[in-house]
Amino acid sequence: MSNTSLSNTTPEKINLLGYDLAHMKAFFSEIGEQPFRAVQVLKWIHQFGAENFTQMSNVSQALRAKLNDIAEIKAPEIIAEQKASDGTIKWLMRLDGGNSIETVYIPEDNRGTLCVSSQVGCALDCGFRSTAKQGFNRNLTSAEIIAQLWVANKALNPLAQSKSDTIQGKVQDSKNRVITNVVLMGMGEPLLNFDNVVEAIHLMLEDHAYGLSKRRVTISTAGVVPALKRLREECDVSLAISLHAPNDRIRNEIVPLNKKYPIKELLEACQYYFNGDTKKKQFTIEYVMLAGINDSEKNARELAFLLKNLPCKINLIPFNPFPNSEFDCSKMQTINRFQDILYKAGYVTVIRKTRGEDIDAACGQLAGKVKDKSRRIKFEKTSG
Ligand code: SAH
Repeated sequence: MSNTSLSNTTPEKINLLGYDLAHMKAFFSEIGEQPFRAVQVLKWIHQFGAENFTQMSNVSQALRAKLNDIAEIKAPEIIAEQKASDGTIKWLMRLDGGNSIETVYIPEDNRGTLCVSSQVGCALDCGFRSTAKQGFNRNLTSAEIIAQLWVANKALNPLAQSKSDTIQGKVQDSKNRVITNVVLMGMGEPLLNFDNVVEAIHLMLEDHAYGLSKRRVTISTAGVVPALKRLREECDVSLAISLHAPNDRIRNEIVPLNKKYPIKELLEACQYYFNGDTKKKQFTIEYVMLAGINDSEKNARELAFLLKNLPCKINLIPFNPFPNSEFDCSKMQTINRFQDILYKAGYVTVIRKTRGEDIDAACGQLAGKVKDKSRRIKFEKTSG
């Protein structure tokens, strides 16, 4: 269980926004109340968007007063909203001091995807990511992670989650959902903030909160192998692997984490993640197309060979440039040829459509503001 206090929170008040059901039950039992209160309060916060305890009309007045004294519901505040011509919306949310994070909503015909951040900045130093160039400051708390859904829901659907008491009993049913999918593909490496990410995901999946299916929540990771193993035991949501290279030589250059967990170990961990589970059909391999780095026909054939026997589909991501990036995006013709080779080798291969480009909301362009950039980790090869 994580520390969910937000920094500009009055220290003595407990922020309940990031508590999953187990944590919430423990909290109520600690203050001498019945565990069923946990379900009530969870619904108020996440399904009805309650911002304080006074709104919780089916909770006794005495308990509401007690909760007001000791606890709070505190989320980061939106400081900027940008809408792209394709309907993509990017929010900048203020955390403590100089830190802020970005969250992106991507509407499509049959779904709405929220791209959520898990850290302020990123420690992994992947050369082609502007977030990485920002350095790393700290992990987000579970409250700050789930708050991105809570805040986005309100911004997207202000009437459905009004502040009035009359909202009691109104559930956020699957038909009315604006956010149908969540991808942890914003700022940060989710598996390096394991406990807080998992607690927030529990809330995403929890019927009394957001009730999303495991299939619709995706963790994207550069490949923190031991954490992948843990994830399978604790919360086996959908998986996207930022592979980006067909061999260790190239991957060491563009994803330094590879020096610690090379491709073979990573793919074995993916295999393990799926073993014995017939419901999960496949995971996604993400492959950013970098001109002259990883985009040759030979690279495509190497990739096809590397992934054989793995239950995966491939997303080719056109590189989104940012100021001072050292890379260029592959030519469209090259990307098409790459796709064709993988397709002929039997892989479902999709070229990801770039969304929200005019507001810098596309993959890898999220930057927020990182106050202290000094905490980047260097990953070196280890023996085990
Ligand atoms: N740390 C996680 C999640 C964040 S990145 C991870 O590495 O998976 C989400 C996806 O966007 C990754 O596949 C990432 O490699 C890709 N991406 C990052 N920067 C990009 C850029 N400039 N252009 C295109 N895709 C990028």
